[in-house]
Amino acid sequence: MSLALSAARLADGWASDVRIDIDAKGQIDSITTEPNSSRLVAVPAAVNLHSHAFQRAMAGLAERQNAQLDDFWAWREAMYRFLDRMNPDQIEAIAAQLYVELLESGYGHVCEFHYVWNDPDGRPYRDPTVTARAIRNAAERTGIGLSLVPVLYSHGNFGAQPPQHGQRRFLHTVDSFLSLVDLLQPEAIALHSLRAVSAAQLHEVAAVTDLPLHIHIAEQQREVEDCLAWSGLRPVQWLQRNVDLSSRWTLVHATHMTEDEAVETARSGAVVALCPSTEGNLGDGFFQAEAYLGAGGRFGIGSDSHVSTSPVEELRWFEYGRRLRTRRRALTAGDGCTQVGAFLWQRAAECSALSANAPIGTIAKGQRANLALLDRDHPTLVGRDGDTLLDSFVFSGGGGAVAEVWVAGKRVVEQGRHVARDEIAADYRRAIAELLA
Ligand SMILES: [Zn+2]
Repeated sequence: MSLALSAARLADGWASDVRIDIDAKGQIDSITTEPNSSRLVAVPAAVNLHSHAFQRAMAGLAERQNAQLDDFWAWREAMYRFLDRMNPDQIEAIAAQLYVELLESGYGHVCEFHYVWNDPDGRPYRDPTVTARAIRNAAERTGIGLSLVPVLYSHGNFGAQPPQHGQRRFLHTVDSFLSLVDLLQPEAIALHSLRAVSAAQLHEVAAVTDLPLHIHIAEQQREVEDCLAWSGLRPVQWLQRNVDLSSRWTLVHATHMTEDEAVETARSGAVVALCPSTEGNLGDGFFQAEAYLGAGGRFGIGSDSHVSTSPVEELRWFEYGRRLRTRRRALTAGDGCTQVGAFLWQRAAECSALSANAPIGTIAKGQRANLALLDRDHPTLVGRDGDTLLDSFVFSGGGGAVAEVWVAGKRVVEQGRHVARDEIAADYRRAIAELLA
């Protein structure tokens, strides 16, 4: 199969009049040039490095002002309550709806940080893989590329504190978790956080597999204070002193770092999964971008709680956070690319391949054919070319400019609509009606 395109952002830069041949496995077989009349421009489909699919169904339900303090921890209680009744079929319906929305916005792949394992009473399901299979079914049904990231969650706070009632659906021991990993054969695994796993558990899990490791880290100031009280070290500092931080690691958020921590993390080769829409929604704080990017730090994006399902929104809020703090403009660029939107899109996609453990993030021979095709006649993009077109898409565009999305050589979004949008939305409406009844 082959695709004719007006232009494409290849691994080594822009090319016009491009023909991409895709093999039967969905990988790019060759890229050549050939005149054509297409109005589509290909960029690498975005990679979502951090998702909790079930949270899509509660987006917008925790925005009411309360008498008590509204902070991350109050939001987390609301999230636990929302999970009280959710069953595997509902998890699948919610995940499928989310994945349709991600695809229509230009994502082609998602890392699902999955930690809902037990039934609503906190007992293991007869089949311990049932909720993970719900996620895989949703990915298969929608065609999104999936890296399943099963999560070990055992404790309620630093120092192996007992879990709270609201955490009963998440819990595994190291042994039960590792047998689950054996059954699932996932692309990566996760330690939920330094709050939810002990140091001994972290070391044990990291030692028995060589899969990429994801972890929530330093999202909240209180988490930093609790970590200091427990260990005398800040969370990122604890990792730096206690594990071999490297490109094997994906640090989710890493919001609260000192400049030294940011530089050391950047030099380690670890990837930071930035989730600016969620970090803004939860009042987490600003990422230490200047020191981290100055030292060449790698980053990708995630939509985490899914208050936004758009990759351009994550990228633009990351840049806007920096602008609002520094009162300057056009801050995030590098690698010979001075155009911020183009740099953000390209760099986030290409840094994500290791975290996802998949050949994705660039358009090149041998890579999976995960492409977002932008309509150059869309009012947002008309009259633009190359990096300027990508700047316009990132800063003033959105899903409307995404004409098609291809994942592993298969077209799953056509004329801006997912091919199964209506059926999947109908299932989602039913699931929400049951959950909110
Ligand atoms: Zn998260």
